[in-house]
Amino acid sequence: MKYNRNENIQKEITEKGYAKINLHLDITGVRADGYHSVSTVMQTVSLCDVLTLSDISLTDGEPHFSVSCNIAGVPCDEKNLAVRAALLLCECVGVSLTAKIDIQKNIPMAAGMAGGSADGAAVLRGLNSALGWPLSIDELCRLGARLGADVPFCIVGGTIYADGRGDMLHEFPKMPDCAIVVACEGEGVSTPWAYRLIDSVYGNFDGSVYAPREVAALKEALVDGNVRAVSENLYNVFEAPVLAERPVATKVKALMEEGGALRAMMSGSGPSVFGIFENDACAESAAKLLEGNGYRAYVCRTM
Ligand code: ATP
Repeated sequence: MKYNRNENIQKEITEKGYAKINLHLDITGVRADGYHSVSTVMQTVSLCDVLTLSDISLTDGEPHFSVSCNIAGVPCDEKNLAVRAALLLCECVGVSLTAKIDIQKNIPMAAGMAGGSADGAAVLRGLNSALGWPLSIDELCRLGARLGADVPFCIVGGTIYADGRGDMLHEFPKMPDCAIVVACEGEGVSTPWAYRLIDSVYGNFDGSVYAPREVAALKEALVDGNVRAVSENLYNVFEAPVLAERPVATKVKALMEEGGALRAMMSGSGPSVFGIFENDACAESAAKLLEGNGYRAYVCRTM
């Protein structure tokens, strides 16, 4: 038991769960457990879900968390990563809690922006804080990895290089503050579908036929704080195969570039597309162009 019952529990807490984009995403092989090993540079952006945990209290019974959400289609039971995170934290800390979790969802779903993982991470941080930090950030990350490969990154945030399943985090030079536009339209992408697709395109990532890209040039661009060079060195192994199947996302990418993005790229397994902009005015006008064409667009910043 890591929790001291004499500690006062905070009854209500609000946490933001931030979306991520991938500045680099490649596959380095397929592991014995069937997961792909990735090499990725992830970046937190200011687009976020807002989670309010209220009526947090100890119970002598089983832990229980009820969920409300502003968006239809988000599971409000134990399939929700926010609930799974809360239950896992209770188990690990050795405490039985009840609470209400309200999710104001702004991150597009099944879009490659780790919206569910961001919510799970926000609950881990929020409940841990409400309990007076019984777990360290490293312990929270290890717990998060049991929920999903992107959760440890969502706990830490910023600019991070990750390998393994995407859950082994390594420090990386920070992305300079800049304007980003994220746009997402069309049917969501299921991550298993996207992996099956790239397996078929790249020959199951057999090392004799597939050579993953280096991140050295991207790293150098980040060290120099050169946003234009960062844009030139974006890479996503999913992009070409997924865009070939998703004409709407292809159109979104073209509009982003027509609207003045230094470069646009699909995030994660898609279909969301982000654009990197030199200034706010350019980002605003690209978002207007996208919205004028009927696509949802969000102007945000790197964090
Ligand atoms: P990733 O980039 O990590 O693969 P994603 O952005 O593509 O994730 P999510 O938005 O996380 O995808 O949602 C994928 C599925 O997860 C949804 O279809 C939904 O059923 C389920 N899910 C569980 N909890 C949540 C949550 N809190 N928010 C959104 N989706 C959730």
